[in-house]
Amino acid sequence: MFCTNCGNELNDKATICTKCGLPVGVEKKFCAACGTEIKNERQAICLNCGVPLTNQAVRKAPTAPAIKSGLQGGVRSRTVFILLGIFLGAYGVHNFYAGYKSKAFVQLGVGIFGLITSFFLIGGVILLGLTGWAIYEIVTTTVDADGNPFA
Ligand SMILES: [Zn+2]
Ligand SMILES: [Zn+2]
Repeated sequence: MFCTNCGNELNDKATICTKCGLPVGVEKKFCAACGTEIKNERQAICLNCGVPLTNQAVRKAPTAPAIKSGLQGGVRSRTVFILLGIFLGAYGVHNFYAGYKSKAFVQLGVGIFGLITSFFLIGGVILLGLTGWAIYEIVTTTVDADGNPFA
C-alpha cells in the first residue's frame, strides 16, 4: 500500500508512514492502493485503479460513523413526545414526531375539522376527544414508529 499523505510505498500493515510520520489516512492526497496522486479531495474513487477513497478517510475517525448511525436510528425524546401530545395532540403532532404517520394524518384531519367547527359545540367535543386520545397515547406509548424506545 501507499501513504495517502505523501505517496510513499509502505508495508501493507503500516498505519503510520515512515517517511512523513503521519498516520495513514490523515490526508487524502494519494491513493493507498496504487500511490497515484489524488487531484481533487472530493473524489470518491481513485481514477487510476478505481478503489474507493472513502475507506481510507474513515481511518481518520473510526468512531464518527458509528455515532452518526446511532443518531439515525432515531433516538426520540419522550419528553418532547409528551409535551407535543399535551399541547398539540389534537392535531396529531406527537405522532408525526414519533413517526406514526398514518395515525397522525387521521388526527390532523379530524383536528382541523374540529377547529373549523369549534364555534359549534360539536367542534369543541371533537377537539376534547382528540386531546383525550393523545393523552392516552402519550401515557401508553413507549416506543417510536421504528420500535426504538424513547430517550
Ligand atoms: Zn507519508
Ligand atoms: Zn489507485
